[in-house]
Amino acid sequence: MFEKILIANRGEIALRIQRACRELGIRTVAVHSEPDRDLLHVKLADESVCIGPAPSDKSYLNIPAVIAAAEVTDAEAIHPGYGFLSENADFAERVENSGFTFIGPRAETIRRMGDKIAAKAAMKKAGVPCVPGSDGPLPDDNEALKALAREIGYPVILKAAGGGGGRGMRVVHTEAHLVNAASLTRAEADKAFGNPTLYMEKFLETPRHIEFQILCDTQGHCIHLGERDCSVQRRHQKVIEEAPAPGVSAAQRAEIGASVAKACEDMGYRGAGTVEFLYDPENQTFYFIEMNTRVQVEHPVTELITGIDIVKAQIRIAAGLPLGIRQEDVVLSGHAVECRINAEDPERFVPSPGQITAWHPPGGPGIRVDSHIYAGYRVPPFYDSMIGKIIAFGGDREEANMRMRSALRETTIEGIQTNIPLHRRVLEEAQYATGGVHIHYLEALLAL
Ligand code: ADP
Repeated sequence: MFEKILIANRGEIALRIQRACRELGIRTVAVHSEPDRDLLHVKLADESVCIGPAPSDKSYLNIPAVIAAAEVTDAEAIHPGYGFLSENADFAERVENSGFTFIGPRAETIRRMGDKIAAKAAMKKAGVPCVPGSDGPLPDDNEALKALAREIGYPVILKAAGGGGGRGMRVVHTEAHLVNAASLTRAEADKAFGNPTLYMEKFLETPRHIEFQILCDTQGHCIHLGERDCSVQRRHQKVIEEAPAPGVSAAQRAEIGASVAKACEDMGYRGAGTVEFLYDPENQTFYFIEMNTRVQVEHPVTELITGIDIVKAQIRIAAGLPLGIRQEDVVLSGHAVECRINAEDPERFVPSPGQITAWHPPGGPGIRVDSHIYAGYRVPPFYDSMIGKIIAFGGDREEANMRMRSALRETTIEGIQTNIPLHRRVLEEAQYATGGVHIHYLEALLAL
């Protein structure tokens, strides 16, 4: 096992990784930007290194600064968390070439899954169901493009092969708009991702977002930990997640889970990963859309229903230890719900940075709080507005939601605005209570 790990992230996930390290008896190095010296995990770390000023590109995205920090502190491995450098194949490569262990998949896997056309091809080959569409880059020829869209059937969605973060996509409803939409999306993709390559998919009107968690060790053994439903979204950003997904049968879970575990085994995957699907409730079909090669924000809901610590598993796998769990050992029990707490105006959704003057976290049976905030902490304006997550576990979905409602009522955060009123509204809403809402549910509710 490692003796010392450098945590190349900030906020709640940095603290989460630090807690996993503590449990494994590993010392931690925190790296932080200048305004982040008061972060909780920085105060609690065995060592800390300032890696640059506030802007992320000068600190958390500054590869030489992160590697230099590992060198001066003699850390053996680097955990990238989520966001920032976590899915940067060049970073993973440079970490390993500098003699450190990257806690995540091999650089080559990250690169392949970052190209959505290649990712889809790899999944399709392994028998994972994909959204019908072009089986590769779109043709330059306009007539060939039109023929392809006609074959798939309108509406279609044009997507950038190198896209991410919900950008580089355009829905096309009629042939009259296709050629123009393709050239616009190409230009945007080239500008945003340095790659103009596009592909096309059938646009699903009211799907649900359901994703599978997988874990693979370096001995070539892959398992899945079931699925999460992340359909409550605003602008492609997840707001509430839960596990298991309402209405997904044990047979569907076993079938899709086995296919993603096999796909990951075939590509020699290493570590934790998430295979994302759109789920069409009408014909009860899963369609692969992309794979994330890192720990996800919403990993706790899976931890609560499986009893498996995903972050500790990532670290063990990176150290070369076998999983030690077989697929048949993974037993799902109960239900878990997570609300992402953001420092933002709950109606206008603009960020609300500033000093937290009072903080009373919720508690009681089945409540977990993953957050780095404390009374007196100043939420900086430079980064993502998420300040933590409240996770509720119960024997079934109803109990988990009951506990979440109670937890949201108990929580006090003063000095800044948060989206807790939004969560309270959704948790009281009838359609949400029934379960199985689609990805446009929240935006439709907000438009009322
Ligand atoms: P990103 O990497 O940018 O998050 P994804 O491929 O995961 O891109 O797609 C992001 C979101 O875009 C999905 O969660 C879904 O809301 C929407 N989307 C993507 N593909 C389709 C599709 N074929 N039909 C309908 N919606 C889609």
